[in-house]
Amino acid sequence: MENIPYKTYLAENEVPEAWYNLRADMRNKPAPLLMPSTGKPCAAKDLEPVFCAELVRQELDVTTAFFEIPGPIRDFYRMFRPSPLVRAYFLEKALGTPAKIYYKFEGNNTSGSHKLNSAIAQAYYAKQQDLRGVTTETGAGQWGTALSMACAFFGLDCRVFMVKCSYEQKPFRREVMRTYGANVTPSPSLTTQIGQKINCEHPGTTGSLGCAISEAVEAAVSTPGYRYVLGSVLNQVLLHQSIIGLEAHAAFKKLGVKPDIIIGCAGGGSNLGGLIAPFMGEKLRGENDYRIVAVEPASCPSFTRGRYAYDYCDTGRICPLAKMYTLGSDFIPSASHAGGLRYHGMSSTLSELYDQQLMEAVSVRQTGVFEAAQYFARTEGILPAPESSHAIRAAIDEAIKCRAAGEAKTILFGLTGTGYFDMTAYQAFNDHLMRDYVPSDAELEASLAKLPTIG
Ligand SMILES: *Cc1c(COP(=O)(O)O)cnc(C)c1O
Repeated sequence: MENIPYKTYLAENEVPEAWYNLRADMRNKPAPLLMPSTGKPCAAKDLEPVFCAELVRQELDVTTAFFEIPGPIRDFYRMFRPSPLVRAYFLEKALGTPAKIYYKFEGNNTSGSHKLNSAIAQAYYAKQQDLRGVTTETGAGQWGTALSMACAFFGLDCRVFMVKCSYEQKPFRREVMRTYGANVTPSPSLTTQIGQKINCEHPGTTGSLGCAISEAVEAAVSTPGYRYVLGSVLNQVLLHQSIIGLEAHAAFKKLGVKPDIIIGCAGGGSNLGGLIAPFMGEKLRGENDYRIVAVEPASCPSFTRGRYAYDYCDTGRICPLAKMYTLGSDFIPSASHAGGLRYHGMSSTLSELYDQQLMEAVSVRQTGVFEAAQYFARTEGILPAPESSHAIRAAIDEAIKCRAAGEAKTILFGLTGTGYFDMTAYQAFNDHLMRDYVPSDAELEASLAKLPTIG
């Protein structure tokens, strides 16, 4: 092996003290959120009944490049950050590739994913504003877990609407959230008006993130002292997640290595947006070039088969409209698709970058994803989350291309989390019962036909 440490940690004084707002370096800014009632761009006063005031400020700021990370958030980060940047020597060797593969591992905390980076920030700002509690949705459960940990830390109430199929498939996730004091309701529920309506229109539905968001927003705006928080998609979340990319960037600098290809899985785009932030910043400023690849499930292909248009962020159509790559807010991915990456839309920042062809996207099928997950577990030792394994699949595919071409490229991918709560999906894979589901053009057309006619 070469003389490079297997894992690269930054020293404490090298951990970033500010988050980086990629939008500041974008010449064409992401399109603004629009109010569904008027079709006009959202102002702070429109968003503040729903979100914490400081988070609204971060959401709307497209010019400030750096936001200092408040001391209490930095203190919390020190419990699990810096996260390791790992050279995947064993994976490289098993693949027989000349490529150098690195991954940034975000699963090294109890929530098991990168979501804690933003959860702790959002809980902090809610506490600063003297709120009583927050509501949210969770799909696979990682966001709800991260938020319940963050709320426990700052003494806030936490109400989680969990997509019904996950609630049933992942009972232990629910118990972790309850252990941290959260109140967990399967969505669509009968506790909100929108939940009742969705249950009525789609009897027996297994739910979707879009439904759960509508319920969580309704619960927040109808409960005094509460606000709603979201674990992905929004610009504020990408801002907090920039800690991943900033650390990776600093660690590579220390190593004297420059990645050629940067790969991340894309659900709502927060880990990918965070991982690529400083690298994309260099690309936008013309200082460096990188190939940047978003990986999405073939069962929920927002980038590769969606449309770049204004759409509702939630099924109940009560949230602001966002311009993004979308499959339509009515789109509900097959329940046979494991866990996360089920959102119909995509971060508006990443959507704009993709539209400008500053990044690429690929879609991968579920069985191929689990093959990659198993291969990674057996070579590198970490049992990856199914979401993260989308990035592993693409990284392996790129490394195999390097083998064929005899090219020693440097690949960085985001290993966003661990898969201990995804054993039902692993079981289906191990029993050869897992199926690939790819929506037909007709299915996608049906939900895209209902896009609003704005913008
Ligand atoms: C939530 C989650 C994702 C996808 O969300 P993004 O906002 O696209 O990052 C990916 N991996 C893990 C482990 C997650 O928990």
